[in-house]
Amino acid sequence: SSAKFRCAGCGIQLQHEHRESPGYVPANAMEREPAICQRCFRIKHYNEASSVTVDQDEFLRLLGGIASTDSLVVHIVDLFDFQGSLISGLQRFVGHNPVLLAVNKIDLLPLVTNWNRIRNWVQKQARENGLRVVDVVLCSAKRGIGFDRVVEAVSQLRGDRDVYVVGATNVGKSTLINRLIKDYSDLERELTVSRYPGTTLDAVHIPLEDGKHIVDTPGIVYESRLTELIPRRDLASVLPDKPLKPLTYQLNEKQTLFFGAMARFDFVEGERQSFTAYLSSAVPVHRTKLERADELYAEHKGKMLAPPDEEGLAELPAWTRHRLRIPRGAQQDIFVSGLGWLKANSEAGALVDVWAPKGVKVLLRESLI
Ligand code: GDP
Repeated sequence: SSAKFRCAGCGIQLQHEHRESPGYVPANAMEREPAICQRCFRIKHYNEASSVTVDQDEFLRLLGGIASTDSLVVHIVDLFDFQGSLISGLQRFVGHNPVLLAVNKIDLLPLVTNWNRIRNWVQKQARENGLRVVDVVLCSAKRGIGFDRVVEAVSQLRGDRDVYVVGATNVGKSTLINRLIKDYSDLERELTVSRYPGTTLDAVHIPLEDGKHIVDTPGIVYESRLTELIPRRDLASVLPDKPLKPLTYQLNEKQTLFFGAMARFDFVEGERQSFTAYLSSAVPVHRTKLERADELYAEHKGKMLAPPDEEGLAELPAWTRHRLRIPRGAQQDIFVSGLGWLKANSEAGALVDVWAPKGVKVLLRESLI
């Protein structure tokens, strides 16, 4: 019925309301013949993939077809938000196809990092989340670090198969795909349409020289990541751009740290010990006594305790409390998806409360660093 309103590049239904949803085309380009969506337009004319997003249910519907293909799946995760960006249940729908885990944004960790340890940590965390991976490559799409290894691993593992690239939003998928397009693709060929059975959403197929494709799939929006909940204008303060500068706090029990107005950490019970914060340097940290914390927040939220500002806070879900018991004898991170983490340095154990907007993933994990 509406072939006229489908993208000539990828076949998606065109729309001009939601800039970040699939099929977006600016209203004045709707009548262009043949009409193509903004994503295809940018790949075609600027060799540039842009972000299109869907929620996880739609994504699973979209990619339910991968299991019946013969392909390599490249799953990009963000090392800064590992537990927030790992696609849970990926294993179920990739079937027997191998998964290569590309761990992006390693430029954020200190230069002296023990990368073997990081790789083992990643393997273990992936396994604990039910994901079997054939290989882990560490990279920074933005800085071009480890990129040769990604290209090499993709070449080696794909053989002569298609490559599906999957990831949550803001993990650097566009940045990485753009590098792959530049190194790899044959843009003289047309972008092609390939539809997954039972879905209306099509992924963009970027042709490779051997006639196979890199399939760029939409980024999944996880509302369990703080980065999806805060106002877009605050994203730049939360997403670190430079290597993390860890800040260590010596705390007594009954002390509190505020991270802007985005989260709050209470050291409820335990021996005096130190906690190291790994977050963007643009997130201001305020320290106070636990007994003063509620009052301080009520008085200063959105002002001294920011971002977000008062207007932004009104759009954020209210905080919920997560009570966490750090076991004695273990080095643990208190992880808040999208914000970063606090490492409990002592192995003395502690009882802590984390307050974060309802829905944000908060958990204890084995220390990354
Ligand atoms: P997408 O939503 O997954 O397509 O992610 P983008 O490629 O648009 O990147 C999301 C954000 O992460 C942008 O602010 C990028 O500049 C940033 N980013 C991407 N790759 C890297 C990287 O390797 N290191 C760092 N520090 N930031 C990155």
